This record gives sequence, structure tokens and C-alpha cells, in this order.
Amino acid sequence: MRRGPTIVVGGGLAGLSCARELAADFTVLEAEDRLGGLCRTDLVDGFSFDWTGHWLHARDPEMKALIAGRWLAGNLLEVQRRAVIYSEGVWTRFPYQFNLHGLPAQTVAECLTGFVDATLGPKGAALRERPLENAADFILRHLGEGLGRRFMFPYNEKLFTVPCTELSPEWGGRFIPRPSLDDLVGGALGLPRDDAGYNASFWYPREGGIESLVRGLSAEVRALPGEVRTSARVLGIDLARRRVRTAAAELPYQSLVLTVPLDAAARMLIDAPAAVREAAAKLRAVSVTVVEVGAEDSGGERFHWAYYPEPRFPFYRVGSPSEVNPALAPPGCRSFAVEFAHPGPAAHAVLIQQALAGLASCGLIDGARVRLARARTIKVAYVLFDHQHAAARATVLAHLSAHGIEVAGRYGRWEYSSMEDALLSGREAARKLS
Ligand SMILES: Cc1cc2nc3c(=O)[nH]c(=O)nc-3n(C[C@H](O)[C@H](O)[C@H](O)COP(=O)(O)OP(=O)(O)OC[C@H]3O[C@@H](n4cnc5c(N)ncnc54)[C@H](O)[C@@H]3O)c2cc1C
Repeated sequence: MRRGPTIVVGGGLAGLSCARELAADFTVLEAEDRLGGLCRTDLVDGFSFDWTGHWLHARDPEMKALIAGRWLAGNLLEVQRRAVIYSEGVWTRFPYQFNLHGLPAQTVAECLTGFVDATLGPKGAALRERPLENAADFILRHLGEGLGRRFMFPYNEKLFTVPCTELSPEWGGRFIPRPSLDDLVGGALGLPRDDAGYNASFWYPREGGIESLVRGLSAEVRALPGEVRTSARVLGIDLARRRVRTAAAELPYQSLVLTVPLDAAARMLIDAPAAVREAAAKLRAVSVTVVEVGAEDSGGERFHWAYYPEPRFPFYRVGSPSEVNPALAPPGCRSFAVEFAHPGPAAHAVLIQQALAGLASCGLIDGARVRLARARTIKVAYVLFDHQHAAARATVLAHLSAHGIEVAGRYGRWEYSSMEDALLSGREAARKLS
């Protein structure tokens, strides 16, 4: 039960949602000088860039009402997804497996026969009968060799930077829409169908980029009888004395909620047992560098985001914020967010050149009419669901739980999840304490 002050470490969506639910007697400690975490938006030379495109998918009724009725009231666009794939010199609709029409006949044939083999034929029987050991098994079992080779393997290996055999079957299979044979054949023949997938439409703010969601939520939090401190990086946590240390202060707590990355949280613990430190060292994540490009509109394919499975493009995805909301770019301009995944540090100048060359090669920009190109790196972007992930995560979480500490958010929980999930898990952590 909660008695006395609760410290919430991290002022992203999870931390703010937690503070809002606590309603009183909380202190949010945020390392940066601005709240919002990954949900911040920068305005540069008339172009607005989220820290890579953030599209809102809400399903929880209470959360939907809060987002649409309060935090973004009167400031919401509902957008029908236009997601595409660029491969073999052709633009097709996303998801790949539902929209093979337009690809070379050889590719379509490989995808169809591979799918039939995997799901119905004798070739796939062995894999249908044994437990799946890794992401490669999942792909081969549910989609087959052709879809694997043409999209799933190269795309996932570019995003996660390791072979699919190194990813556990839980790496993200629940997000992959699985077609029926009818879907696959209809998509190959170009028959119209309802959009498939978990994100067929989404919300986005009319003004202010995704950070306006943070502004709506944090205005409520700041009006509550609690405290929000920015530029307050937590450096150490003393579980025995129930104290949190920043550069400026040592603060006692009764309850503690952590929304910072789980590996970093474990490193902050003073006197953590060796087993916990070792487990934390096994938690791996992929970094993402986003190259933000603003350019005069020189035509080309229109989309909200595009997937690039082929190894000849070093980036895995390109978002187009100005296509989602034209207010995000000056009149007559388009904007792109080109996403590269990498396991360690990245050279921004090289990635900027690669992004511009890639966009030009598929007809999206004219190099001479680029107004802005800059890069930023998100150090912990995608949790790597490798074979050590589940056990290492469980060890760290069990230690925190034994000391009554709650975790929340995408990185606190060390998972793959959305903005809504971050809001929900912050709320959930507060409810557990109360
Ligand atoms: C490339 C990419 C694209 C995405 N696109 C989408 C999308 O389109 N739609 C969607 O719903 N979701 C998307 N997400 C997911 C979404 O960004 C997250 O689920 C959500 O923002 C996580 O919020 P959070 O509060 O858990 O974490 P964060 O936003 O990371 O917040 C954690 C906070 O903790 C602070 N912090 C860290 N260390 C310390 C410390 N020592 N002391 C104090 N504070 C500290 C950080 O500064 C940060 O503000 C995307 C994520 C990525 C990486």
C-alpha cells in the first residue's frame, strides 16, 4: 500500500500517466530539460519532426476518451493509413503478404507456393508439428519461404541487426498479420479488400506534433498536488535506505516507479546482487538513427510510411510526416524521417548521405531542392528479443519487485509496445501502489 511520497523516474508518457493516476504526493524526476521522452517534437526551419513519426493507435475506452476528449480535444486528425513497401523497383501496399500484386511474377509465384507448402503441404509438416524455436521458424511456419526471403527475413534482420534465428519466437509475431490463402491469392491478383493489420487508421494531432499529447497530459499533472522536476537525472537508487540520488539532491521515497530502460535502472541500484547485474548486462537493444529531411515537393510516391526490405537500402523505413499532416512542413514542401537501425554508435554524416541518396534513387527528392537534413540517435529504441531476453528480464524484474518497486513503459518493462501501452502501464503501476 502507498504511504508517503512516490518517486516516478522518467517524464515520458508512462511516467506522466503514472503521476496523473497517483493524483497527489508524487515527484516526477526527468533527466532532460523537457518532458515527453520519445514523444517530443522539434520545429526547425518551418519543418516539425517528432523524434521519428509517432502515430496514435488507441483501443482502451478510458484512454481513448482521455486522448480525444481532454489531452488532444479539438486537436485531432483521424488518418486512414497509407503504408507502402518499396522493393524490386516497385511500390506495393503494406502488409506485403496481403498485397503481392505488381511485384515480378517470379516473386509472386515463390510467395504463393511457399505459403501453401508452409501451411498445408507436406514440406511444412515438420515445422507445423514441433514447437517454434526462433523468429525464423515463426516466419517459415506461418508465412513460408517466399514471403520470408522476399520481405520478412531481410526486413527483420535490418531492423534488429541480427539473424532471425537469434530472435526468440516472441520477438513480435503478434504484430504480424497472417493471411489466409484467400487473402494471399486475392492480394496477388489485385482484388480489393479491407486494409489488414493492427494499424489501419490512426490519430495524429492537428497542431504541434505528437508533443501536444505530452503538453495536454502534463498540464493536468502539473495542476495536481505533486512535483515535476526536469533536468533531474537519477544517478543512484539505494533500495535498503529507500533513497534516490540526483546530482543535486538525495530524495527519500515510500514507493518508487521506474520508467527508464531496465538495464540502466539495474545499473543505478546500489549493492545489486551479482546475478542481477549479470542479467542486466544481457539485456540488449538496438539503436535507431533518424535522418530528418525537408525538401521542396518534387513529386514521387505519396505515403505515410514506407518499408524498405532490400539490403541495398541501409535504412529499414521512411516516414513522411508532411503526408500525415501538411502543417508539419512549409507550403510546397515534403518531409521524410529515414530510420536506420544499428547495434552501436553511428556516424551521422554518413547516414545523412545514405538517406539522401536512397530517397533520390526512388524518386522522392531532388537532391538540389533539399532544404534540411539532420540526424538524431535514439540509443535504446528496440528491445532485442534474443534467446537471453526472457530469463534476463525476469531476473531483474523479480529483484525490483521483491523491493516493492514498480516498472512501467516500453523501456521500464523492456518490451515492444506503443504510446498507448506506455500510458496504460503508467496508470497500472499507480493503481498497484494505491
Ligand atoms: C523508432 C520508434 C518509432 C515509434 N513509433 C511509434 C508510433 O508510431 N506509435 C506508437 O504508439 N508508438 C511508437 N513508438 C513507441 C513509443 O515511442 C513508446 O512506446 C513511448 O513513447 C514510450 O514512453 P515511455 O514513457 O515508456 O518511455 P520514454 O519516452 O523513453 O520516457 C522515458 C523517460 O525517462 C527519462 N530518463 C531516462 N533516464 C533517466 C534517468 N536516469 N533519470 C531521470 N529520467 C530519465 C528519459 O529522458 C525519458 O523522458 C515508437 C518507438 C520508436 C523507438
